[in-house]
Amino acid sequence: MKPPFVIVGAGQAGIKAAETLRQKGYDGDLVMMGEEPFLPYQRPPLSKAYLQGEMDEERLFFRSKAYFDTAAIDLRTNAKVVSIDPAGRCIALSDGSILAYASLLLTTGTRARRIPLRGVDLDGVFSLRTIADVAAIRAALQEAERIVILGGGYVGMEFAAVAAKLGKTVSVIEARPRIMERSVAPEISAYFQTLHRENGVTLLLERSVSHLAGTGHVSAAVLADGTEIPADLVLVAVGAEPVTDLAEAAGLAIDNGISVDAFGRTSAARIYAAGDCTAFPAARYRRTIRLESVQNAIDQAKAVAGTMLGETEPYDPVPWFWSDQYDAKLQIAGLSAGYDDAEIEGDPASGSFGMRYYRAGRLIAVDAINAPRIHMLARRELQSSDATSQTARTPAAATAAE
Ligand SMILES: Cc1cc2nc3c(=O)[nH]c(=O)nc-3n(C[C@H](O)[C@H](O)[C@H](O)COP(=O)(O)OP(=O)(O)OC[C@H]3O[C@@H](n4cnc5c(N)ncnc54)[C@H](O)[C@@H]3O)c2cc1C
Repeated sequence: MKPPFVIVGAGQAGIKAAETLRQKGYDGDLVMMGEEPFLPYQRPPLSKAYLQGEMDEERLFFRSKAYFDTAAIDLRTNAKVVSIDPAGRCIALSDGSILAYASLLLTTGTRARRIPLRGVDLDGVFSLRTIADVAAIRAALQEAERIVILGGGYVGMEFAAVAAKLGKTVSVIEARPRIMERSVAPEISAYFQTLHRENGVTLLLERSVSHLAGTGHVSAAVLADGTEIPADLVLVAVGAEPVTDLAEAAGLAIDNGISVDAFGRTSAARIYAAGDCTAFPAARYRRTIRLESVQNAIDQAKAVAGTMLGETEPYDPVPWFWSDQYDAKLQIAGLSAGYDDAEIEGDPASGSFGMRYYRAGRLIAVDAINAPRIHMLARRELQSSDATSQTARTPAAATAAE
């Protein structure tokens, strides 16, 4: 009997790949391994509606148990894969069992980055990535009044918004001069900084933490200058790192993620990868990138499922992303890293506007705040242009840049 296709990682990319394999007519055995005890679920609500208590756990799950039976997807939860033998084409599970595969897809995602900070193991210190994390945080939030967040990225700022809405005293400590600096222009950071301050959040920018203080339970975050910020709950939100351990131990090429080509093939025969855990060549941007987004997990998984069935369609996305903070929705199309010029679209005073980013006179990304139309048009505009002919800002600017 032919061995199954095996997917390691039952998250956003894993479920999309499984669905796509079936939709495209793969009728062989299909096994999906997930180390978490849950059906595959979406993570974005974990720092938004679900955390806030505005969404039931049932709605987090992509599919019901019945779907997996009907689609003949052998979903195994609480199933941690501990090693891959690429030569023997098999994997080993933590319970000691061995499973042969015909093709293997790694969708192992990311894990919350840990920092070597004194006090980080105290009670009351959390990270936010899984349903289990939210359960623990929610329980702690019942008692906690003073919340300190380490890191002013998306997860940290979304958590700040929820905690502020719950009436907590919230402080965010960010080493950089502005929040979300890695991915948005100063004007967008400024908009969100104002919003957070209006909601009572204290932003401690260009400040770093020396350690967390407390006996058993955290009681304060201590800054490098000795200032103590009292804390009943600390969220460490300093980014995520790709889960590459399995791939690395199996000898697969790694480069800030599992290295794959435009078709999702790793450096080992019949092993593929998709989603947050991959670093892939983005033709549009002429460099290798790793994305942490729903768009990427879905679209790359679909493309790689096609590759596993013999298709030859390269994956070359226009990335997009969103973040909800209070009633504001930020939607990002494209990648603005390396922009050398930007212009505002619309009127920031209206609370609904966009920011267009250019590089050498060409549009590379658009951020939209409360402006879904700007976002949708931007995605179309970026999609219809390729790496060499992205929309020129003005003929003069484009000429000057070439
Ligand atoms: C709090 C939060 C908010 C977010 N908000 C947004 C948002 O607003 N917009 C957006 O676009 N994106 C958002 N994201 C990012 C988005 O959720 C991820 O990009 C997406 O989940 C990636 O899908 P994935 O399948 O690659 O990885 P994951 O969803 O992380 O799934 C990977 C799975 O693999 C499992 N696994 C790993 N190793 C093993 C192993 N050895 N054996 C078995 N199983 C294993 C893990 O347990 C995990 O369940 C958010 C993420 C978080 C954490």
